[in-house]
Amino acid sequence: KLFNEVQDLRGNIRVYCRVRPFLPGQTKKQSTIEYIGENGEMIVANPTKPGKEGHRMFKFNKIFSPASTQAEVFSDTKPLIRSVLDGFNVCIFAYGQTGSGKTHTMSGPEGASEEDWGVNYRALNDLFTISQTRRSSITYEVGVQMVEIYNEQVRDLLSSDGTQKKYPFRLDILFLILEQFYFCFLDLHTLGILSTSQPNGLAVPDATMNPVRVTSDVVGLMDIGLKNRSMGSTALNERSSRSHSVVTIHVRGKDLKTGVPMHGNLHLVDLAGSERVDRSEVTGDRLKEAQHINKSLSALGDVIFALAQKSPHVPYRNSKLTQVLQSSLGGQAKTLMFVQLNPDSNSFSESLSTLKFAERVS
Ligand code: ADP
Ligand code: MG
Repeated sequence: KLFNEVQDLRGNIRVYCRVRPFLPGQTKKQSTIEYIGENGEMIVANPTKPGKEGHRMFKFNKIFSPASTQAEVFSDTKPLIRSVLDGFNVCIFAYGQTGSGKTHTMSGPEGASEEDWGVNYRALNDLFTISQTRRSSITYEVGVQMVEIYNEQVRDLLSSDGTQKKYPFRLDILFLILEQFYFCFLDLHTLGILSTSQPNGLAVPDATMNPVRVTSDVVGLMDIGLKNRSMGSTALNERSSRSHSVVTIHVRGKDLKTGVPMHGNLHLVDLAGSERVDRSEVTGDRLKEAQHINKSLSALGDVIFALAQKSPHVPYRNSKLTQVLQSSLGGQAKTLMFVQLNPDSNSFSESLSTLKFAERVS
């Protein structure tokens, strides 16, 4: 019976698509989005194939049109975030080409007012509000980590001395060995009976954990994180589009009546741009970056695909990204992917490959 229950809880994956509006300065506004329906269906049109022939239909759990506000997007995300307070691990990430609105959805524009806040500030705000009001018999502690994954290396964005240390995955090596020798261990793991390979669900054991109490603490931390992210790079945008940023929120609670502890964590991930680079045009560092991004995004796709298929083997070990997110992908964890689209018909082929990636996992 336990086995069946665990089975039912797997594959808890939702996919929301969000189409960003044309930008204010844009004059030529030819959209590749032909139609958005009420029930999560959409049609994209190939600009080089006019008429029905160039139409392709996709279906997701939900589609947000260019007119959707940050508040509307969050209202459909909120239930997931609240389950963190019940001890679930949740992973929310934004996927799409550079300029498709990933950062807008996850964080909002730089220096955003509350109205423009993205999912991460709203999530924290919500967690604080609920933990302080609704559940008076439970006390909660919230801690935040923020790391960047660049070229398969994990960097702490919140270390106080501002240095960008690289963190080894010592535990990972141990578990890798265990997995090699005990295949049954792997099965238990992927079935969610062993909910995480890292004690305490700590994604990056050595990355600085900052306790936070109010939303303004978080805003301050994210500012530090963003500054550290841009260090050593001339153009922030350039760099941020080629690395994954992972904010991890740890919630620890204790029921004062029963003494029962609980721990849930929330990963909020702004992925590197999914655009393909032309191999003939890039060399050296740029090519290496592109290969790392490619590898980690396909590893992520493979993990989610395996989970959606309820496959007994989930290939978490193929990239740093999937290793860091492991505790909130699979098992009893809940996953939400925002598929971000730029509506411009010039972006048709990138949009199509984004949609195909999403279709495979949904
Ligand atoms: P990405 O992080 O995917 O590279 P951004 O989030 O930086 O993309 O978005 C690119 C541009 O589009 C930014 O100027 C951003 O402010 C704007 N933008 C994205 N989504 C929206 C939206 N839903 N409403 C208004 N502007 C948006
Ligand atoms: Mg961005």
